Amino acid sequence: MPRHLHNAPSLDQRPTHTVEDYLMTMQVMERDYGEIVAARLAEMMDVAPATVAMTLKRMERDNWITGTGRKAVHLTATGRQAAYSVTRRHMLTEWLLLRVLKVPLPQIHDEAHGIEHVISPSLEERLIEILDNPPVCPHGNPLPGFEHVVRDWVPLTEFTGGETAIIRRIHEFAEENHDLLIFLIENGALPGAKMEVLDILPFNHTLTIEIENKPVTLGFAVARYIFAERLAPQA
Ligand SMILES: [Zn+2]
Ligand SMILES: [Zn+2]
Repeated sequence: MPRHLHNAPSLDQRPTHTVEDYLMTMQVMERDYGEIVAARLAEMMDVAPATVAMTLKRMERDNWITGTGRKAVHLTATGRQAAYSVTRRHMLTEWLLLRVLKVPLPQIHDEAHGIEHVISPSLEERLIEILDNPPVCPHGNPLPGFEHVVRDWVPLTEFTGGETAIIRRIHEFAEENHDLLIFLIENGALPGAKMEVLDILPFNHTLTIEIENKPVTLGFAVARYIFAERLAPQA
């Protein structure tokens, strides 16, 4: 059994599906923003703040998190382990849907939520094998333990005009945005695409990149969720 699966919780030790989804979002926040802000959770999970507060209380009672009632909550060791487990299952399921079942990219994130919670540790192990141990999900987000792979990929909002790069990653917080994904597919702005930054208009909150000789304009609100790998300037 691969080393990281040794402590994988069995199906009956797992939190409920709802709690697993909270844990996954929390893990992403902790990984990329350094803290889990309760107010942001309501926004991210698209539920009322009162509902979030109630779920958090339950999660603290069951020892997945600490710090309920304060601005930021923290994952316990068990909570983090459960979060890694469901995140890994989510990402492997996305690959299964895309590669094997040929589900279109804009749908795989939502469809994965229906399947990821019931994948047993042995099925997870099988997926890792069949999918050849992928370091990132189809959107380019890192599986737990592969965070170093994405370290040099920077948000488009950090680029300057004239730079060239390869698009690598559409952040988890943009994955649920179907219209954005359809727009990115139509414009070829997906992981693997080569791009050049044409211009950045801070007063307008937009930047324009060029892909395959076609300009693509993005607002800062979504551009910050698209990451690319800088290419060295040509001599
Ligand atoms: Zn889910
Ligand atoms: Zn994904």
